[in-house]
Amino acid sequence: MQDLSSLWQAVLDKLELMVSNVSFIMWFKPLKVLDLVENKKLIIATNSTSAKNQILRNYLDKLSSAVSDIFGSNLEIDILDQNEEIEYIKANGEVKKQKEYEVSKNPFNAKYTFDNFVVGKSNQFVYAAARAVAEHPGEKFNPLFIYGGVGLGKTHILHAIGNYIKEFNPNLNVKYITCNDFTNDYIESLGSEEKIKAVSAFRTKYRNLDVLMVDDIQFISKRTSTQEEFFHTFNELYQNNKQIIIASDRHPKEIETLTDRLSSRFTCGLIQDIQSPDLETRIAILRKKCQIEKYVIDDDVIDFIAEKLNTNIRELEGMLAKVYFLANLSNKHSATMEEALEAFNGQFEEDKNDGVTVDAIIDAVCKYFDITRQDIIGKKKSKDVVEPRMIAIYLISEILEIPLVSIGKIFGGRDHTTIMHSRDKISDEIKTSHKINSFISEIKKMLKSE
Ligand code: ADP
Ligand code: MG
Repeated sequence: MQDLSSLWQAVLDKLELMVSNVSFIMWFKPLKVLDLVENKKLIIATNSTSAKNQILRNYLDKLSSAVSDIFGSNLEIDILDQNEEIEYIKANGEVKKQKEYEVSKNPFNAKYTFDNFVVGKSNQFVYAAARAVAEHPGEKFNPLFIYGGVGLGKTHILHAIGNYIKEFNPNLNVKYITCNDFTNDYIESLGSEEKIKAVSAFRTKYRNLDVLMVDDIQFISKRTSTQEEFFHTFNELYQNNKQIIIASDRHPKEIETLTDRLSSRFTCGLIQDIQSPDLETRIAILRKKCQIEKYVIDDDVIDFIAEKLNTNIRELEGMLAKVYFLANLSNKHSATMEEALEAFNGQFEEDKNDGVTVDAIIDAVCKYFDITRQDIIGKKKSKDVVEPRMIAIYLISEILEIPLVSIGKIFGGRDHTTIMHSRDKISDEIKTSHKINSFISEIKKMLKSE
């Protein structure tokens, strides 16, 4: 249970990130929360009629969205001006500020639903598997292991499963936790004064679940006790046909800190990857986002953003919000290419790499190491070829931001995990190896001078 003012503070914290600094100070900071009526209606007071009108006119969507994120449900929001506030207090007696509110907080983000998830070639299998698991937890794919790059919708899918089960199977005990929170929770119980009790409470909490979702498992620490604990939690749930769903930015085999026995547990269900969306899907995602956030944005702007940003969906959404914000600033009804170009302004600077192509990178690497194109793309495993190949992969991925799968195709149909491994290896080595570092900067110089 939390008191209303701390929940309201959380709403404000969220809003602060959603609106400009000026708007926040002008319109949101002065708001007072008065009451929460029957867990359904939130009563908020402003300090003037014009503030009330401003919020109703321009910010109601954002306010509602922050409220629903924190309170976990779509509350009705009543905004009062000063006179209405006085009336309200008269009619309802002392304002119930001190009262504790039992907010049945849904831990899942209300926006991350299956309905709001755009399905395309890149994510259709993950979607289908997640859907099956949500409909029949513990019966279909267990564990379901989802992996893919940053901002491709893994967390969204986990929440969608959670939201679905909360709606259609509310008696089930479902938990979503990030790997870091799981670890902290466990360590905290170990450090507790009443350690035995605390650890046993920890175990009861996790082992009595019907569905456990662990996000970002790649952060699992090397610490053996945590992995051990997770291993036992996993086994207990698994043996009782409870559903386990795990998300990661890479395949279990690529998580260096993961013990073999956990890795092999993860591989005994379904492992499904989520890829970068193709152009069509990116456009559909942006359209959906406009619909959800009620953005009015010209079609050519949407196409433009979708073409320019091609890997991370979070970045796509960020750019869309920025463009919309710029249009709003100049009181435009609809965001146009003018705002899009402005929003991308900084980005184009970095795109000075434009003109560098996959071929140019491969040629430069071959020239630098004095090997042939055939060598670098082919299957040769000798060291004098393997290292240049990894460097070329790294450079293509870093400079051109081409999806791993496509890079795999360029390099003779290699699997994208292999490509990811090469890329990560070089990007790690850059930090420690002077030799690799100078290879990379020399080759980059060659590319620039072309
Ligand atoms: P990840 O956990 O893989 O890093 P998230 O799940 O946080 O990525 O997704 C980043 C953002 O992109 C979220 O706002 C999410 O709603 C959105 N998103 C990702 N995939 C889709 C999709 N297929 N349809 C609609 N929105 C998506
Ligand atoms: Mg995530």
